[in-house]
Amino acid sequence: MRGIYKLYGQGAAEVRALDGIDLDITAGEFVAVMGPSGSGKSTCMNILGCLDVPSAGEYLFRGVDVASLDRDELALLRRKFMGFVFQSFNLLPRTSALANVELPLIYENVSRKRRKRLALDALRLVGLEDRADARPNQLSGGQQQRVAIARALVTEPPFLLADEPTGNLDTRTADEIMHRLVELRNERDLTIVMVTHEPDIAMYAERVLFFVDGRIQRDGPPAEVLT
Ligand code: ADP
Ligand code: ADP
Repeated sequence: MRGIYKLYGQGAAEVRALDGIDLDITAGEFVAVMGPSGSGKSTCMNILGCLDVPSAGEYLFRGVDVASLDRDELALLRRKFMGFVFQSFNLLPRTSALANVELPLIYENVSRKRRKRLALDALRLVGLEDRADARPNQLSGGQQQRVAIARALVTEPPFLLADEPTGNLDTRTADEIMHRLVELRNERDLTIVMVTHEPDIAMYAERVLFFVDGRIQRDGPPAEVLT
């Protein structure tokens, strides 16, 4: 990102959600995004995830200027290169863990047989292959979040965006999820950008961006930024 601004409203009501962001994220980095409520974290994530466009500035994703892409190209880029995980797991309640994980592959026109195999692989990745037939309400919060992570990773995207992925989980379960993310990062060279309010969770990242008033006020290793 170079000189990224995002403005909402006009005149006296204008809000600078992002006020000049310069940011390079390297493939394979694990980045935690922190800062007070309203500091621009979600806005920055939405732009990183190509879900929203900046008011000014340049965002290159894998060397491509995102502003040069139309709606369909952006949707394709998201499907091919990005996985999303949210605080609320957003699973379909009436279908099995396996069917939930298969979902992104349906849009990719992957055959039924191959879908099942890839979804089982993804569930194995998060240690849940033995619960493939369970519905979300038969799973714990941590297990549901692991299903959501499997769904985000089933297409093998290189970039995972997570918005408070452990926000609804108890400390022990949150630690388990974070261990798994760190392992995945190492195994797959996955790039992870994760919003969190918890310093203990941010410690799992190798880099923390601390947002204040739409700017990155601090950027460095967690031990440095969080003291
Ligand atoms: P969080 O602080 O948990 O990240 P927010 O409450 O700041 O969540 O924002 C949630 C979503 O609501 C944001 O992605 C944004 O698009 C939208 N939003 C936030 N503030 C406003 C606002 N003042 N007006 C309209 N939409 C907003
Ligand atoms: P955070 O995620 O750090 O809580 P946000 O990125 O959600 O911060 O919001 C940054 C600022 O932009 C806040 O002042 C928020 O109210 C404002 N904002 C966010 N989304 C919208 C929107 N859709 N419309 C108007 N204001 C918004």
